[in-house]
Amino acid sequence: MSAEAADIVIIGAGLAGAATAYHLARPHLQTASNFPPSKGFVPSRMARHAAAPRVILLEKEPLPGMHSSGRNAAFIRELMDDRAMQPLGSEGAEVLRRGELCDFRRCGLMLVGMGEEEVAAHFPAARGRGLWNPQDGIADVAALLQTYLADQHLRCQTHVHSWRPDGDRLRVSTSCGEFTCRILVNACGPWAGRVGGLPLTPLKRHLVQTPPMPGIRADWPFVWHARDGLYFRPESGGLLLSPCDQTPSEPGDYAEDAAAIEDLAEKVARLQPELGELSILRSWAGQRTFAPDRRFVIGFDPREPRLFHVAGLGGHGVTTSYAVGRLAAGMILAGVEPPDNPFSPSRLIA
Ligand SMILES: Cc1cc2nc3c(=O)[nH]c(=O)nc-3n(C[C@H](O)[C@H](O)[C@H](O)COP(=O)(O)OP(=O)(O)OC[C@H]3O[C@@H](n4cnc5c(N)ncnc54)[C@H](O)[C@@H]3O)c2cc1C
Repeated sequence: MSAEAADIVIIGAGLAGAATAYHLARPHLQTASNFPPSKGFVPSRMARHAAAPRVILLEKEPLPGMHSSGRNAAFIRELMDDRAMQPLGSEGAEVLRRGELCDFRRCGLMLVGMGEEEVAAHFPAARGRGLWNPQDGIADVAALLQTYLADQHLRCQTHVHSWRPDGDRLRVSTSCGEFTCRILVNACGPWAGRVGGLPLTPLKRHLVQTPPMPGIRADWPFVWHARDGLYFRPESGGLLLSPCDQTPSEPGDYAEDAAAIEDLAEKVARLQPELGELSILRSWAGQRTFAPDRRFVIGFDPREPRLFHVAGLGGHGVTTSYAVGRLAAGMILAGVEPPDNPFSPSRLIA
């Protein structure tokens, strides 16, 4: 059977896959790096090509962004809870704050209810009791995804079933025929563990939106009770809130759990009683996908060097997407990971 050929096939058109495709089309953005090439990081033949590689994105859904990238809180929080991830948080937030990729509304982050030691333990870059970061804010995530995907070769309703070696390429079988590529990228979000044979776990989290309420101001910050597990921010005249639940779940399981909503009501009554009793306009669940050490997974698969993973973005995939895409594209174009890559999939594979 004839197969469509590309240099790179990306499975998944959420933020991870889309941002990687965006940067593969812009190799010139690779220069200012937070991750300087170290010894052994030798640009391959693909990197030296002046033209961008031919990239095809394969997405099983009718539209991109129907999973984690369309079910999140859209908050751009620069501060990461992992030192290795902090440069990606800083770069991603800085780019989004400029408002060139999508609308960005500055509202600030107010972290409450933590002592000095807890702040330092959770956020290595932060000091003091509690935290106020006026720079953080809300991004228009749907517009961000559209920016990443503009002018890309995107095939929706194309479910990748399997792949196999075919000479020096991989042959990818889908619900819409076969593709061949030099590099296959696993950007499957909650499915990335299954698709790529990695120990990744999707954790379910609920969000609740209230109808417009008197007294809610649009310039309120994002308020996060990190120790107790409650956050909220203004949304369309009401509030968007989460009980910060994290329940292991099967990929694509968005069934709502009444206990999570009850937990939210209890936390609001205890921690923010002045908000009063809240009504629900709509609620939904989404999945944040994590490696066991909760660090991103970005790099080549040690078992199949033509397979590349951009996965396990947990609760930071909106904030870091630009930086994650740039880092992933840089490694793919170079054809090799830096030897000191803290995100290497090798750490997860015995
Ligand atoms: C409730 C909640 C709140 C969040 N809040 C924030 C926040 O405020 N700030 C922040 O920075 N991050 C937040 N996040 C995290 C962020 O949303 C994710 O990290 C990010 O969206 C992950 O993107 P992704 O591309 O890896 O996954 P996804 O968006 O899930 O994309 C994966 C894609 O792969 C496709 N796919 C899977 N398998 C196949 C296959 N076999 N063939 C073809 N296609 C396939 C899927 O259909 C899907 O479209 C939140 C997440 C949740 C759930």
